[in-house]
Amino acid sequence: MSEKFDLLVIGGGSGGLAHAQRAAEYGVNAAVAEYGSLGGTCVNVGCVPKKVMWYASHYAHELRHATDYGYDVSVKGHDWAALKTRRDAYVARLNNIYSNNLDKRGVTYIAGFARFIDANTVMVGDDQYEAESIVIATGGQPMVPDIPGAELGITSDGFFELEEQPRRVLIAGSGYIAVELAGIFSGLGSETKVIVRKDGVLREFDKMLSNELMNTMRKSGIGLDTGVVPASVRETDDGLMLKAEDGREFGPVDTLVWAIGRSPNTATLDVHKAGVNMDERGFVPTDNLQATNVDNIYALGDVTGRAALTPVAIAAGRRLADRLYGGMDGRHLDYQLIPTVIFSHPTIGTVGMTEDEALAEFGDDVKVYTSGFTPMFYALGEDKHRSVMKLITAGDDERVIGCHVFGAGADEMLQGFAVAMRMGATKKDFDDTVAIHPTNAEEVVTMR
Ligand SMILES: Cc1cc2nc3c(=O)[nH]c(=O)nc-3n(C[C@H](O)[C@H](O)[C@H](O)COP(=O)(O)OP(=O)(O)OC[C@H]3O[C@@H](n4cnc5c(N)ncnc54)[C@H](O)[C@@H]3O)c2cc1C
Repeated sequence: MSEKFDLLVIGGGSGGLAHAQRAAEYGVNAAVAEYGSLGGTCVNVGCVPKKVMWYASHYAHELRHATDYGYDVSVKGHDWAALKTRRDAYVARLNNIYSNNLDKRGVTYIAGFARFIDANTVMVGDDQYEAESIVIATGGQPMVPDIPGAELGITSDGFFELEEQPRRVLIAGSGYIAVELAGIFSGLGSETKVIVRKDGVLREFDKMLSNELMNTMRKSGIGLDTGVVPASVRETDDGLMLKAEDGREFGPVDTLVWAIGRSPNTATLDVHKAGVNMDERGFVPTDNLQATNVDNIYALGDVTGRAALTPVAIAAGRRLADRLYGGMDGRHLDYQLIPTVIFSHPTIGTVGMTEDEALAEFGDDVKVYTSGFTPMFYALGEDKHRSVMKLITAGDDERVIGCHVFGAGADEMLQGFAVAMRMGATKKDFDDTVAIHPTNAEEVVTMR
């Protein structure tokens, strides 16, 4: 079979769906090829099921403080399997909604794995599809190290398949996925240890956040060992053992999770047949208009190797459609000042430059304001958890170029501050804004 479209999107994840649907709204005859479940990483093995698990673990934290507020509560246990059943049902409902959304907009859904034949043609199974424009939105997948026994571990994908809660968990990795999974396991009662290759977690974030999180993880019972380069994994009668290059051994554990990064889904896409360039790691580089080196082929989302976040993929996809089909010349995603949240315990919200980045770019023009306090929520009990915040400004007018929040509520706090920063807010604007009391967020506008 052979079929023709104006637009063919490869990958029905956050970015691909957003682009195809927006294009269809402009009257474009669009198709999406997807070999997995609609919704991609975010919906199936990313943000959505992760946030459900975060809520479960957060609940455990809140329950521990219930007695501070006069409740006579004792937690008799947690049913991981029941939670998974409900979570999977929710994800299945979302898959259906995505499928209906494509139908409603008249986007053709091609189920299967797509491969390029040339710059205008793609094969899915035995069928051939031609399109004027092709968008690569194939996302990425978790990496596993190339060491003996690595296959005994699971990745974040495997985390979402766990039918039972493991009693002992070892997580290798230092990024946001590693710390989020550690917080979930530990919050729900698994004995949890994280091993990192270098000297800490969240190394690409502001140091204050990284240090504070490491202290909190240790305080809450999560083991954290640095300078660990995994060399091999073996199975023993009592569980998995990981050996490091320096001879240290970790384990035995019931579950080993690799959270060491993600690689782009391009290895078997045959992009070379379309003449599309990839970088040495397989990412598809684009300019700021999401254009690849081939005129009619665009790429967006995680596969481009930039800011691997769902709203980034969605925004890039929609803006590309606005530009190509909606008459919005030059419309594109500005990759500066992208706010993001780490769903650790407590949460971290961050937008803009780290202190190190600011100093490197603006030197003496940088001013840094910090605040550390114990949120009122903990006032009545003994188990207290700190919040810390940092504002970074540059120039005589003290434009706010970085805002970093560690602590309860950070996840819901940062969105509005990100708007202010995009509008060029200065420290004076923050100072002149009347605080909301009593909240944790008020600290952001009362820093001196
Ligand atoms: C554990 C985890 C937690 C995360 N949490 C967050 C979060 O809290 N907030 C956030 O913003 N982001 C989060 N992310 C990142 C977010 O999921 C991704 O940035 C986002 O999904 C990227 O969207 P995308 O469209 O680029 O790719 P994807 O969503 O990965 O979609 C790509 C799709 O392409 C399909 N595909 C690949 N190759 C082919 C092919 N050849 N033919 C057909 N189909 C193909 C895949 O099956 C997939 O469905 C998380 C990721 C993980 C792994």
